[in-house]
Amino acid sequence: MTDTSAPAQPVRALSLARIEGALPWIALGLVGLLLPLLDDSYIGVIAQRAFIYWILSAGLNLVVGYAGQIAIGWVSMLTLGAYTTAALTAGTATPAWHPYLALVAGGAVGALFGVIVGLPALRLRTFYFAMTTLGFATIVTQVALAWKEVTGGGVGTPGPVFPWPFDPGWGFYYFCFILAALATWMTANLASSRFGRALVAIRDAEVAAEASGVAKPRLLVAVFLFAGALGGVAGGLFASLQSYITPDAFTFEMSVLFFIAILIGGRGSILGPALGTIVLTVLPEFAAPLVQWSTFLYAALLLLIVLIIPGGIADLLDYKNRRPLERHREIVPRPELLARVLDRRTGGEVLSLANVELSFGGVRAIAGLDLEIRPGEVHGLIGPNGSGKTTTLNVISGYYAPEAGQVRLGDAVLPPRAPHLRADYRIARTFQTPRLIGGASVLDNVMIGGTIDGQGSFAESLLTLPRHRRDEKRLREAAMLALAVVGLDQLAAVRADRLQHSELRFMEIARALMLRPACLMLDEPAAGLSADEIRRLGALIVAISRQGTAVLLVEHHADLIFDICDRVTVLNLGKVLAAGTPAEIRSHREVVSAYLGA
Ligand code: ADP
Ligand code: MG
Repeated sequence: MTDTSAPAQPVRALSLARIEGALPWIALGLVGLLLPLLDDSYIGVIAQRAFIYWILSAGLNLVVGYAGQIAIGWVSMLTLGAYTTAALTAGTATPAWHPYLALVAGGAVGALFGVIVGLPALRLRTFYFAMTTLGFATIVTQVALAWKEVTGGGVGTPGPVFPWPFDPGWGFYYFCFILAALATWMTANLASSRFGRALVAIRDAEVAAEASGVAKPRLLVAVFLFAGALGGVAGGLFASLQSYITPDAFTFEMSVLFFIAILIGGRGSILGPALGTIVLTVLPEFAAPLVQWSTFLYAALLLLIVLIIPGGIADLLDYKNRRPLERHREIVPRPELLARVLDRRTGGEVLSLANVELSFGGVRAIAGLDLEIRPGEVHGLIGPNGSGKTTTLNVISGYYAPEAGQVRLGDAVLPPRAPHLRADYRIARTFQTPRLIGGASVLDNVMIGGTIDGQGSFAESLLTLPRHRRDEKRLREAAMLALAVVGLDQLAAVRADRLQHSELRFMEIARALMLRPACLMLDEPAAGLSADEIRRLGALIVAISRQGTAVLLVEHHADLIFDICDRVTVLNLGKVLAAGTPAEIRSHREVVSAYLGA
């Protein structure tokens, strides 16, 4: 039974899926490449517009579809890029620039303002952030109207004309095509990197993302910068395509188009929003009389999508996740593989709480708690509902700052109210209610846990440079191994929201193992598990502790606690009622009468 080879099957299945995933892109690329053969300049212009819109939407997709930030006024980046490129080329404010250089400047201005517009997202709730982006779009248009010397005001200004090799006509067509392909490639690279996974985690499971060490502010700033740059470049191209721009070319409707294209495409997909952008660009052209109805059309389309396929186009295309899963699945953990997941640690460190206190209003959730969790041991934390168990975990995780007392790992005092720094201390946890990214695969969910072990930068991921590829390979292998340990490797490629509740609990353990935790905290991991599953879970938890991990186990199943714990602390009203070995606790008079209820 000690077969320590990790199953390779799902990995191979994944790379097959990758080839399959490339097919639609190859088809789209061929159409784009060969379209000039039709030699129809009208179709050419529509295609160029679709490319340009997509260059902007590709970046916006990371903001809206991946990070879940409602940036509804992103047309401002198009406006900024268009006027920067046009004004620099025309030389209205400075000596005239070379058009290609001016386009780069347009991208830079977009990047700068992308960050400025994005910053409020770090503090504001979704709706308020949406309003600030809209407000900014209005300001940009007003400035373009007022700053007549540079922008030409309401009269407008000529767009840049790019010289050979991308001169007007098919040259410019291929310029837009190449840039659209480049934008697609870069966003796809990023989406499948640890940064892309972290973005989706921020959207769907923010506390789990933080517990895995994802630093939201830095990541969002990088994404806003990139999305702003793409918007700016799209603006420069747009100005050239229009050949003459006025402020009323950049309408609110256009902004809505970008936004809706992403929604009907499907959140967390790239192909979907790309198809959405193409459809919304092309549709009004084929039905010319509909142009004046376009706003109405977009709204109707959005309603239809929300009602019929809430997952958007991407969901329609995702036929693989409609294949039924095997009904009677058994979770069979393989703790013998643990040594390969966890570095063998010698002399791990003790996690200790000293006189910790915390109240919520009048409720003293923790009232002077001392606790010591030693490496290599399973420490049970039990007590009636409301006795402060979850709050204790949340203090250790850094979600709450204790009003008095300290939490230490070894000699280091853990910084309060900094959950995203716990991963650096190798403190991992699971949640009373599993926190998952429903739309992502089980493997992706587990890979989130290893985010801080990546070494490549955001820019390296955009370009799939070697360090990024090494990160991905290592993370994927580690995650497959962690999944094999908890017995879920066969489900690696399945969408996480298709899993059963008990499987999600084991998936969270796999995610936590990715940190190679010095301390692992489990909040009621046996809730909702069958007797068999609880037995296997117990064996797995013991095996994890024996690798040198300090395990803190909050649990209601008294049997499990007394079976596997080396030490047990009983809480009542935020205080220690009793502490000792399972045998001592079992015979503790007060505990038996107050809690175990014999
Ligand atoms: P347990 O996990 O042991 O069931 P908790 O730690 O969740 O208990 O809660 C301990 C006490 O603190 C309870 O009285 C609970 O109502 C209170 N409490 C927990 N979290 C909060 C909060 N965010 N705001 C107000 N009261 C809270
Ligand atoms: Mg609780």
